[in-house]
Amino acid sequence: MKITDYTLHRLKIPLREPIGDSQVRFDVHWMTVVELHTDAGHSGVGFQIQQGMPTASLDTLKVQFEHAVWPSLLGEPPLGLAQRIVRPRGGNVGGGYLTPPVETALWDIVAKQQELPLYRVLGGTDPRVPAYGSTLDFRLSDDEFREKLERFRSLGFAAIKIKVGHPDLAWDLRRIAITKDVMGEGVRLMVDANEAWSVKETLIRLHAYRAEGHDIFWIEDPITRDDYAGYATLCAELPFTRVNTGEYLGYSGKRRLLEHNAVDVLNVHDSIGTTRSAARLAADYGVPVSLGNTVLEFGVHLAASLPECLCLEFSDLQWNDIAVEPIRFEAGMAIAPDRLGHGIELDRDKLAYYSMP
Ligand SMILES: [Mg+2]
Repeated sequence: MKITDYTLHRLKIPLREPIGDSQVRFDVHWMTVVELHTDAGHSGVGFQIQQGMPTASLDTLKVQFEHAVWPSLLGEPPLGLAQRIVRPRGGNVGGGYLTPPVETALWDIVAKQQELPLYRVLGGTDPRVPAYGSTLDFRLSDDEFREKLERFRSLGFAAIKIKVGHPDLAWDLRRIAITKDVMGEGVRLMVDANEAWSVKETLIRLHAYRAEGHDIFWIEDPITRDDYAGYATLCAELPFTRVNTGEYLGYSGKRRLLEHNAVDVLNVHDSIGTTRSAARLAADYGVPVSLGNTVLEFGVHLAASLPECLCLEFSDLQWNDIAVEPIRFEAGMAIAPDRLGHGIELDRDKLAYYSMP
């Protein structure tokens, strides 16, 4: 079986409400969709999101793809491409020919060829993965935030991650109180500061939350991503919560976090191969992992294949509109579909609706 053709789509998907954190705000997702086709009649699909800023025009995307990616794919077997290890040197750093959407599409084809759901091909045995609701709420008013929490509660979530990192500590405390009011005292509560703080400010804030009686399951990305010494200090000085970081780092950065004892829960979010390599390394260190948002919740297959994945992020975003059947979340669990491949089939009408030249 060989790759013989491709299709690209450029989509603009407006968001239901603005999403953001202590640093950024977005109202729209620009999505690139890659379909790869084989001589055996199988097709695979992958996706990539760019937040806020428009992607290049479809013609330019095609020129870039034809130049940088397509020569590596044409005539090659999907399984060989999906499993190829590229030496991380020079221009190969960052994935080389295997851009994330291409890698997703290749694994989709491989699983279809095997006539299995992707999580089974990746070694998973249970399609159900614990998930948490992630509100991305920093740009919402208290009332809008409350409504969003109610939506997650009605979906059956018992674990929630909210944004903190406001200059005013009282704002953080009020949002935590609202969360417990809507979700109940027993909610598993995670907070994400998106690198808003110094080491000292992180310690001050977490002690302040604790003094108000709030039990925080994890603090995510409190300081700058590559402050390994700082993260090691936080892990040692905050015995009453977990430090979750790594999402913004590549494989080498994730490795450094582990080497420096600078992470309690490693966010292994990355391409399929890199996520699995990082999760394997984390297991070596006895560090559990989590998985951040993936486009169209594709990551449920990855999470279901990792032995120590605490939970998967779910933000209920508009990208799920383009799936014939989006990934299901029930009673706080994500469920990998039992359809062949990753099982995220594109709704052709929706694709046409969101398409841009
Ligand atoms: Mg985060």
